[in-house]
Formats: sequence, structure tokens, C-alpha cells
Amino acid sequence: MESRRIEKLRARVVFDSRGDKTVEVEVTVDGFTARAAAPSGKSRGKREVQPFAEGGAEGSVRALTEASRRIIGATMDDPLAVDVLLREIDGTEDFSRIGGNAALATSVAAAMAYAGSGGVPLYLALSRHLGVEPGIPLPLSNVLGGGAHAGSGAPEFQEYLLVPVGAKSAMQAIEANVLAYRKLGRLLSQEVRGYPLGKGDEGGYAPPISNRKALELVARAAQEGSDETGVRIAVGLDVAGSNVLDPKSGRYALRSDGLYLTGEEMVSFIGELVDRYGIVYVEDPFAEDSPELFADLQRSVPRAFVCGDDLVVTRPDLIRSAMERGAIRAAIIKPNQVGLLSVAAESARVCHGLSGLPVASHRSGETTDAYLSHFAVGTWCRLIKCGLIGGERMAKLNELLRIGEELGGGRMRGLSG
Ligand code: PEP
Ligand code: MG
Repeated sequence: MESRRIEKLRARVVFDSRGDKTVEVEVTVDGFTARAAAPSGKSRGKREVQPFAEGGAEGSVRALTEASRRIIGATMDDPLAVDVLLREIDGTEDFSRIGGNAALATSVAAAMAYAGSGGVPLYLALSRHLGVEPGIPLPLSNVLGGGAHAGSGAPEFQEYLLVPVGAKSAMQAIEANVLAYRKLGRLLSQEVRGYPLGKGDEGGYAPPISNRKALELVARAAQEGSDETGVRIAVGLDVAGSNVLDPKSGRYALRSDGLYLTGEEMVSFIGELVDRYGIVYVEDPFAEDSPELFADLQRSVPRAFVCGDDLVVTRPDLIRSAMERGAIRAAIIKPNQVGLLSVAAESARVCHGLSGLPVASHRSGETTDAYLSHFAVGTWCRLIKCGLIGGERMAKLNELLRIGEELGGGRMRGLSG
């Protein structure tokens, strides 16, 4: 690919879907301007980069604007070329000088402007640069939220997910998940008193029920949705285990089920749920500093995908070591956990290279940007976890439909390829 020049950069503060401030960046490359904003997590891993510089989103905008003198005028030989410069300019391990969100917004806006100046969409620029055949990832949809994403009274597990494993296209996958989501709403309003149709941060219901009850109803909705659409819909979970662990007692506090479990008991409990509800995907079932428990669970449920999020925080080295010790078979890829699109792509490559399942993922505080879909299609991600209901979630799914049209049929990825 030929060399192009960064002509302008402008950063500003905008708001995410939760109403929190974040950073948006506009970059112009060879006359083409692109814009990107970074999302924010609420259940963050300890080893993620710092999202903002000192002074929050405003401090990050100031720091990036100062540094922009070193970025404007730089040349890009490929869509990810600005990342080297961003790392040099920041100079810290955890991106605390400019903040990971400012870095990521710049990294993405520059990649999009580079792609656009060459007349191609981001997914194609990435796939050509990385040597990947573009493919549509299977959407993993949060339909019921708990934990840090919901109010008290909701289940402690953070996300109950639908996995439309039998879908042949993004359209089929989204339709099946929406239908099962509506069925879940009907089941909740029949079976649960209180405020069963309230929403969590990612748009799923956040009812006042136990984890067991939530799983039972989500599994029923998935089964009814499968029967009606003919698309097999399985169930997935994100426990967000670090938030369930009570640091004082060292036990997993599942108050809604009346359970206070040791690590070993939690391995058995999750294993039992996997078998009982046919769960195919379990993210962060334990706290982020207990890889041995992940490995115990993965051994006991070899067909399910145990997935690391806070455990590996989108770092290639952590993904490699967790996969090599058998702790996980899947890894969450959240670009803002590392602050650079190139590192996120490398993480997806490492996971894929070890025969694992890379899962491109949104954050609970999102923007209406859809670059996550391009990232997933243009790299090795076989799944995309981007929610279902809400404009900021549907924006990513709708972009998959548009990209799917460009690619034509037959390039749907999934759990098995
Ligand atoms: C997650 O844990 O997978 C997640 C999306 O949550 P957050 O963005 O709050 O870290
Ligand atoms: Mg997670």
C-alpha cells in the first residue's frame, strides 16, 4: 500500500451511552476525514490501560491536542501505521499520558481515513493489510443484564447471552436473537413480579431474579426462538467473576441464589449450569487472578468455550499464556483495553493461531460508532459481542448487514469456523 499523509487531527469530548464523557477524534488523511470515539467499561480488568489522562476526558483531549503537532504531517504506509507514533508519544506502559481512549480514537480515525482516502471501507483495508479473508462474525447478544451493569436485585452474573449458532447470515442471526429477546420479555412479565422489563447498561432486561431463574428463562426463550425460526439459538454467559468475588471472604457471593461458594465450588456450580442449560460460551467465570480455576472449568466442560476478558485484557502475551495453559479457548478483544487497533488485531491473530475463538467486543458505555464491526470482519474475530437493543448496539449489527451485502453470502463465521 502506498504512503499517505496525515493532514489534520482534532479531538473533542463527547458523551457515551451512559452519559459519561469520552474522547472523539477526527483525522484527515490525503483529504479524507474520518471520525471515531472510544467506549468505556464499567467492569474493567486490572491490567487494562488507563482510559483517560490526568484530568479525565478533558485532560486527554488537552494531552492529545498538544501531541498532535507530532502526528500531523506524519506519513502512513498502512492503515495501522499511526499506532507506532501513538505509543512513542505516550511513552508509558499503560497509556496514562494521553489515555487509552484518546489513543484508540486516534488509531481508529486514522485507519478509517487511510482506508477512505484509498476508496475502501475499513474492514477491507484491514483485511488486505493483515492478509485475512473478510468474514461476518456471529453476533453474541446480551438479552439480560446483572452485576455491575444493573441495579441491585438483578442477578449477580453480568450478562446472559444468546448465541445463534445455526445462523447462516447476519440477518438470520439478528432476527433470531430479536425474536428470542421478545419471547424472554413475555416470559419475564408472566413470571416475575416487580420491574422485570427494566434495562441494564447494555440494553438487556435487568429483572429482580436469581441467576438460576434468569438462566432458566433465557434458556426457555432461546429454545422457543429456535423452534420458531429454525435457527438453533444457544445460551452464553459473562459472569464477570472479579465483581462476584467477595474479597473479604474469598467466596463468590451469589446472593440471589443464596450461595456463597469457594473457587472449587464455583467450578462445580458453573459446570453444572453449563450441562443443564447447554451453555456454549462462559466468559470470566472467575476472578481475573485465578487462571487455575478457568483451567479446571475448561477441563470439566471441554466442548464449551471458556472465554477470558478481564483475565487477558486484549493483551497478546496474556492470551497466549492463558491459552497455552488450557485456561481458555476464547478471548474477548476490546480495542480500548489496549488503546491501539494494531494490538487488538495482534491479539485476535494470536488467539486464532492457537485454534481459539477471538470475540470482538463492545463496552457497556458505548458510542454509535460501528468500527467494531469492521474490525471484526477485517481481522480474525469469529464472534462479535455488541448487544442487541439500543441504537448504540444496533449500529454495529446494522453495519454487519451492510458489509454482508458487499461481501455476498457464504462468509459467515461462528463457533466452529
Ligand atoms: C464485559 O465485561 O464484557 C463488558 C462489556 O463490560 P464493561 O464494558 O463494563 O467492561
Ligand atoms: Mg466481560
